[in-house]
Amino acid sequence: MANIIDGKSIAAALRERVKLVVEKLIDKHQLTPGLAVVLVGEDPASEVYVRNKGKQTLAAGMHSFEHKLPAATSETLLLQLVTELNEDPAVHGILVQLPLPEQINSHAVINAIDPSKDVDGFHLSNVGLLATGAPRLVPCTPLGCMMLLQRQVPDLSGMHAVVVGRSNIVGKPVAALLLAAHCTVTVAHSRTKDLPAMCREADILIAAVGRAQMITSEWVKPGALVIDVGINRITDDEGKARIVGDVDFESVAQVAAAITPVPGGVGPMTIACLLRNTVDAACSAHGLPFEL
Ligand code: NAP
Repeated sequence: MANIIDGKSIAAALRERVKLVVEKLIDKHQLTPGLAVVLVGEDPASEVYVRNKGKQTLAAGMHSFEHKLPAATSETLLLQLVTELNEDPAVHGILVQLPLPEQINSHAVINAIDPSKDVDGFHLSNVGLLATGAPRLVPCTPLGCMMLLQRQVPDLSGMHAVVVGRSNIVGKPVAALLLAAHCTVTVAHSRTKDLPAMCREADILIAAVGRAQMITSEWVKPGALVIDVGINRITDDEGKARIVGDVDFESVAQVAAAITPVPGGVGPMTIACLLRNTVDAACSAHGLPFEL
C-alpha cells in the first residue's frame, strides 16, 4: 500500500512558516505583505477560490485586497485596475482569477501585471525565466507538486518523470521544474500514442488532465511516485456528487510507493504556495532576503 501524501497538513505547515516570516517582516521592517486578487464575473467556483485566498491571506497576517468586477467589465477597465495595482506600494502580489469573460484577452491582462508582482507566475517574463532554468516567481500548483515530491524524495535527479497534460498552468511549468530538478521528463497529452505504456515508464507520474480516474493501476510502475493534480466532479453509484482526481486512487494506491489523494493532496498546496510567492515578492521589493 502506497504512502498517502497528506497535502492538507503539508500545506498547513507551509502556511504556518509563511505566517512566521510575515510576523518577522512586520516586527523588524514594518512591512506587511499584501496580495490583491481580482475577480471578474460571478463564476461560482472562482468565487469560492477567491474567498479562500482572501481568508488564508488574512490568516497569514498579510493584507488582502479583493476587487470584484462585473462580468461585463471591459478589457480597458481591467487593464486600468492592473496598472493601479502595479503602482500601489501596499500590493506585493497580484492575481487575476482565470478564466476571464470572453471580451477580455487574458494574455494582455496577465502580461500587463508587473512581473515582480506576478505571484501566479504566468507573465511571459516569469515563464521565460522558468524555461531558461532561472526561475523567479513560479506557478503555484506546479510549485506545490514539487514540494510534495521532494518531501518524499529530496533528490529527484535521474528519475524519469512523465507529466500527462501540457497546459500552461500545470503541465508545462511542472515539466520545467522537474527538468530543473534533473529528472528526465516526458510530457504526454491527448495525441500521445499508447499513453498507458508511456505512463508505466514513469518513476514519477504527474496527472494534470481533467479526466476523472483515467489513470488506473495497470498504467503505473510498481514503486512510482504519483501526483494527482486533477479535480473532477462526479456522481457516484449512490447518486452523490464528489470530487475525484485523474487517478483511480483505490487501485493505484496498491502499486505506487506514494500517492496524493483528491481532495487533500495538491489542492491545498496551491493557495499555500500563493502566500509563499507573495511574501517572496514583498521581500524582493524591499531588497530583503527571503527564506522559509
Ligand atoms: P487543461 O488546460 O484542460 O489541460 C489538460 C491537458 O490534458 C491537455 O494538455 C490535454 O491535451 C491533456 N489531455 C486531455 N485529455 C487527455 C487524454 N485523454 N489523454 C492524454 N492527455 C489528455 O487542464 P489544466 O488547467 O492543466 O488542469 C488539469 C486538471 O488539473 C483539471 O482537472 C484541473 O481542474 C486541475 N487543476 C487543479 C489545480 C489544483 O490546485 N489542484 C490547479 C489547476 C488545475 P491536449 O493539450 O492535447 O489537448
